[in-house]
Amino acid sequence: MDIDALKQTVRGAVTTRGDAGYEGTRAGLLWNGRKPERYPEIVVKAMDAGDVQAAVRFAARNGLRVSARGGGHNFSCVSLQDGLVVDLGAMDRLGIDVEKRTATAGPGVTNSRLAAALTEHGLAFPVGHCASVPVSGYLLGGGFGWNSGAWGIACHNVASVEVVLADGSLITASETENPEIFWAARGAGPEFFGIVTEYRLRLQDLPRTIRTSVWSYSLDRIDAVERWMSATMRILPSNVEFTAVMSSAPPPLADRAAKTVAAVATIFAASEEEAAATLAKIQSGAPEGALAAQLGMETPFDVLYRIIGQFFPEGRRYAADTHWSADPAALLRGLADSVSAAPSPETFALAVVLPPTASQAIPDTAFSMIGPAFGAAYAIWRDSKNDAENFTWVRQASERAASYSLGHYIGEADLDLPERARGSFSAAAYARLCSLQRKYDPAGLFHRPAREPLKKAG
Ligand SMILES: Cc1cc2nc3c(=O)[nH]c(=O)nc-3n(C[C@H](O)[C@H](O)[C@H](O)COP(=O)(O)OP(=O)(O)OC[C@H]3O[C@@H](n4cnc5c(N)ncnc54)[C@H](O)[C@@H]3O)c2cc1C
Repeated sequence: MDIDALKQTVRGAVTTRGDAGYEGTRAGLLWNGRKPERYPEIVVKAMDAGDVQAAVRFAARNGLRVSARGGGHNFSCVSLQDGLVVDLGAMDRLGIDVEKRTATAGPGVTNSRLAAALTEHGLAFPVGHCASVPVSGYLLGGGFGWNSGAWGIACHNVASVEVVLADGSLITASETENPEIFWAARGAGPEFFGIVTEYRLRLQDLPRTIRTSVWSYSLDRIDAVERWMSATMRILPSNVEFTAVMSSAPPPLADRAAKTVAAVATIFAASEEEAAATLAKIQSGAPEGALAAQLGMETPFDVLYRIIGQFFPEGRRYAADTHWSADPAALLRGLADSVSAAPSPETFALAVVLPPTASQAIPDTAFSMIGPAFGAAYAIWRDSKNDAENFTWVRQASERAASYSLGHYIGEADLDLPERARGSFSAAAYARLCSLQRKYDPAGLFHRPAREPLKKAG
């Protein structure tokens, strides 16, 4: 098949290197303001699974590697590769079956759209924390979303997936149909050996109330804040998300501290009484000396998304890395020290202390790396001339964490480092994933970060 035949076969646009508009298409694949110097020969905007099949078959016949692109939100920009990129962003059909409490979502459906549509029916899903991230790569990498203490990792709420394999076939994978592909589709992320064209989701009840409280402290109080968070999470119900956000002081507090830690507790409760009782338990342990506190704010999903959006402005340059740890004290102290030394004022870090049960028993899927606490460092800056110092900052923050890190979360790991992908799985899961890659993609059609170092980070 030549390129003209491909253009006639697929419903969506086909852009080749040299076409007018190529650079806009290439750069538009990524949410990150940083656009690494990788240049796909062809970008196929898929409108349906048939387009994905045609693109995959074309690539296989023409010796091109394939990279799927959901929303281009991966901080390491891994969906942008040489070869052929299949852009799934327009495949955003969403169907909700209220009776069966299931939804089918195309890969392009965003977190905020899914949450809003489910809210109308009194239903919910462990959507991710950022509005514009689509389910595509979010679910494939695991999905560490809202209320994960109670609802679990998002991919463990997936009932089945539709997948285009390297031979161009379209299959369904679930617990009973192609179970080993289903095992991999829940957590493999960029290491997956196919393209997911649809997710079927099991839904949850919408909490009656979602209440958020924020206590802000000078960052040098991090140890006291961590002791409070860890002790509190041991006595709270699992439907509370307790996160420490370490950053430059927000403007109202800037005359009282240079850097702050905001302890943010979001309660997903079945009643107002339950939310109030939970908040009272949290508040009773709060360290003295908060610079500010806002308690019990009503924060339905759309409000949560507006709040989180302020931390991740569009158009900035980003680099990130993550760690799971069994030592929250060391994790939070390490991230606080890193944030104190950040070269960019917009850079921040967060750490979540999970409910004790959350990391104890998880279903057997490719998502296999988890711990009692999670930490993420986000370098955010504006100008390419500051790239080197910000990459160095992320790497140093991770080196600091090496002694207490259990491993990484592939959805937000620094995948420019070849060892990161492997470190995002348990040893057994990684071995199984590699053997499935050999079985289902023997020619290595799909890009995978662990197989080869990516080109220039850019
Ligand atoms: C601002 C921001 C906030 C975030 N918050 C969270 C959060 O709260 N929780 C969380 O878990 N993660 C979070 N993430 C990480 C995010 O979930 C992952 O980066 C995810 O991969 C983004 O999905 P995407 O479709 O945009 O991926 P892309 O960047 O498009 O792709 C990432 C990788 O996945 C592969 N891929 C994507 N879709 C498919 C598919 N359908 N089939 C096969 N391969 C595919 C790509 O080939 C690529 O290797 C956040 C990211 C950002 C930028």
